[in-house]
Amino acid sequence: MQTQACQDLDRAHHLHPFTDFKALGEQGSRVITHAQGVYVHDSEGHRILDGMAGLWCVNLGYGRRELVEAAAVQMTELPYYNTFFNTTHPPVARLAEKLCALAPPHINHVFFTGSGSEANDTVLRMVRRYWALKGKPEKQWIIGRENGYHGSTVAGMSLGGMAPMHDQGGPCVPGITHVRQPYWFGEGQDQSPEAFGRACAAALEEKILELGEDKVAAFIAEPVQGAGGAIMPPASYWPAVKAVLAKYDILLIADEVICGFGRLGAWFGSQHFGLAPDLMPIAKGLSSGYLPIGGVLVGDRVADTLIEEGGEFCHGFTYSGHPTCAAVALKNLELLEAEGIVERVRDDLGPYLAERWAELGDHPLVGEARSLGLMGALELIDPATEERFDKALSAGNLCRDICFATGLVMRSVGDTMIIAPPLVITRDEIDELVCLARQALNETARRLA
Ligand code: PLP
Repeated sequence: MQTQACQDLDRAHHLHPFTDFKALGEQGSRVITHAQGVYVHDSEGHRILDGMAGLWCVNLGYGRRELVEAAAVQMTELPYYNTFFNTTHPPVARLAEKLCALAPPHINHVFFTGSGSEANDTVLRMVRRYWALKGKPEKQWIIGRENGYHGSTVAGMSLGGMAPMHDQGGPCVPGITHVRQPYWFGEGQDQSPEAFGRACAAALEEKILELGEDKVAAFIAEPVQGAGGAIMPPASYWPAVKAVLAKYDILLIADEVICGFGRLGAWFGSQHFGLAPDLMPIAKGLSSGYLPIGGVLVGDRVADTLIEEGGEFCHGFTYSGHPTCAAVALKNLELLEAEGIVERVRDDLGPYLAERWAELGDHPLVGEARSLGLMGALELIDPATEERFDKALSAGNLCRDICFATGLVMRSVGDTMIIAPPLVITRDEIDELVCLARQALNETARRLA
């Protein structure tokens, strides 16, 4: 199909996620037609290095025949059956076992969903149910973080702390509040990163005391904030938060939808930071995005209570544990494991990206270049003032569009540029990514001068 014909159909009938419908209608969509390895190709014949692994999900890269074959075999045998009413099937049982083997030792159960947002709806219900079963139904409050992202369903957006989402669509789910994020570059530069990390944990404690320590059910956070801008917390942050949660007996929900499955050089971000969460929502890299599947890894404390004391848990989705999605996810995990991809991110590619990415810190437009594993961010600043650009200039979006035209997908969150490439990227491709990012920065600087 020609570019124009595809754009016309799209314009006429398709409402895109997180998109200004009218503006897109005027501009026309980019048409992506195929992909291989770390590259996507558009209908105009351009090859573009996908620095975002789709939406942080194509961990294994594009074009893996093994995943296609796993889907074809499963679709031939049993394309769909549900896991309601005491039924199961081999792929979902095997996937559950595999996930629990990879997860920290206190996690031995998984509840499947179709997406990360559904996983977060599930944790909301699970934690409130857990405390009710424990005879503490007043423990209802869930504390999230400003600028955290936990999905786009009503529960997901309520747990998240994205103000523009809260401003649309009426009231959020009651009993959810937010505390400050550990975003040192954006909000903490008047202190050392370590002092700032501790101050953020102290803010959590203050919020707990304000709500009443016996009224708080759980704290939800991404180990590293993704959609908020690839925000790696100061080293002091997680140890201090862990201590606060332990002091008041509050559950930890570590949202692993982005950090899970190798992104930070560990199977789960929680392992990188030494966390032992009670619940871990997962999705995205679970199937490398080849098919939609998510879930919640449930620690023994919550799972044992739900199993032994809960009776029927009145919650679930038509596609919970979908056999084809489960078969593809299982094959994806097997390949990540067999090819040593998580270890390679930890020992080779992560440190290599860190070294090459840090070089961009010298660019006049960059106030900070940071990375962890295969996730990175550049903070854009106006070289004339060394402060943020005037918002009206939309420097981040300009840089993003220039990147795309240069042959690199880099996402903008305000004036923070972020990358999270497929985990199969090579050193040479990292060199290319850094080179394209520098070219795009040069062109952005030229246009803003
Ligand atoms: N949680 C986190 C940390 C995410 O980044 C996302 C999506 O970007 C979600 C949850 C929601 O996942 P989904 O888009 O699959 O519903």
